[in-house]
Amino acid sequence: MKKQIAILGSTGSIGTQALQVIEEHPDLYEVYALTANNKVEKLIEQARKFQPEAVVIANEDKYQQLKDALADMPIKVYAGAEALCEVVESGPINIVLTAMVGYAGLKPTINAIKAGKTIALANKETLVVAGELITELAQQYRTPILPVDSEHSAIFQCLEMNNSISKVILTASGGPFRTFTMEQLATVTKEQALKHPNWSMGAKITIDSASMMNKGFEVIEAKWLFGVKPSQIEVVVHPQSVIHSMVEYKDGAVKAQLGVPDMRLPIQYAFSYPKRESLSGERLDFMKCSALTFEAPDTKRFRNLAFAYDAMERSGNMACILNAANEVVVAAFLKDQISFLGMSDVIEKTMGKVAFIKNPTYNDYVETDAIARRIAAELVINSGF
Ligand code: NDP
Ligand code: MG
Repeated sequence: MKKQIAILGSTGSIGTQALQVIEEHPDLYEVYALTANNKVEKLIEQARKFQPEAVVIANEDKYQQLKDALADMPIKVYAGAEALCEVVESGPINIVLTAMVGYAGLKPTINAIKAGKTIALANKETLVVAGELITELAQQYRTPILPVDSEHSAIFQCLEMNNSISKVILTASGGPFRTFTMEQLATVTKEQALKHPNWSMGAKITIDSASMMNKGFEVIEAKWLFGVKPSQIEVVVHPQSVIHSMVEYKDGAVKAQLGVPDMRLPIQYAFSYPKRESLSGERLDFMKCSALTFEAPDTKRFRNLAFAYDAMERSGNMACILNAANEVVVAAFLKDQISFLGMSDVIEKTMGKVAFIKNPTYNDYVETDAIARRIAAELVINSGF
């Protein structure tokens, strides 16, 4: 039987690569639902090609355009954030790929877990914001959460069926500013930040990669996905992005997963797990890997990584505050409303201003997110940029 797949955020970088995987294996996978936020033309094109049961556009203003364009096809058309949360519960769906950006992924992921759908998790912000709640729900509803993030997929592929991990080692490319001094970082532009050396991704995660917040989020993501302590998570800068991440075992053995940087592999592995399927594309050529180098991350220049470790140690709603402040500053940076280094200043101050909640409920996360966004937005305005 073909696996029925719902893609949340089908018009984005991960979403379009997931559709390439499905196209390569029409005998294995079928698209059940596609969703987008604004890019209605692209969603229409995808819907006509893949003929899903349902499509959802989060922006309700685009509903009529979508409905009219698909009027000749037997596709159910919905709009709005609520509809997006409901579509993931549809009976035939086997896998929900969460490939939307940011906090908006939290609610649909919770609904999909409660409906017992396997989660192929790209939307790392969900685990950053509410990792404890999400992992508890996944256990309660016996719902697998399979990583799509390349580092976590690498670790997942290296894991053995016993409890003998000593640590997980996340590799980081270091981003476009790896070698920049503080003086240089003070004046970098969004155009420079949007040029990632090894990966082509959506705008938000590309900025997060340049500021190392992405790696900070991935540290928190690893804690929840693999049940490891903060002290068991190490970050190593590896500019070539050949090793996607590693696991060190109690006896000192280290297992690594290597490959060319291509997100279709981790996406497909989450779809095909526990099997592996063929995949077209470039193969790693060791004769062209003249050097694999490693260095320690610099948390003095890239303070976001330190904030993420701090939020993880303090637990509760701290990482939710971190994420909300980050979403606000990244949006502002993309509109030239704050400097690159100013982003970290606002995040740090927001983390100090929002009330700490030790054991947050779902409603506490919603409230924390709203308050942190408001405070961060004020700080951006007052940053004088
Ligand atoms: P993109 O910006 O390329 O795509 C985001 C997708 O989500 C688009 O389809 C967009 O719709 C949709 N979307 C955005 N906001 C909302 C919203 N509020 N409600 C509903 N839909 C929304 O992002 P990426 O594909 O790069 O990243 C997606 C997620 O995967 C992120 O969490 C990221 O951290 C993670 N990830 C990405 C990797 C990558 O290589 N790109 C690698 C590892 C993780 P529209 O197009 O209409 O705006
Ligand atoms: Mg990653």
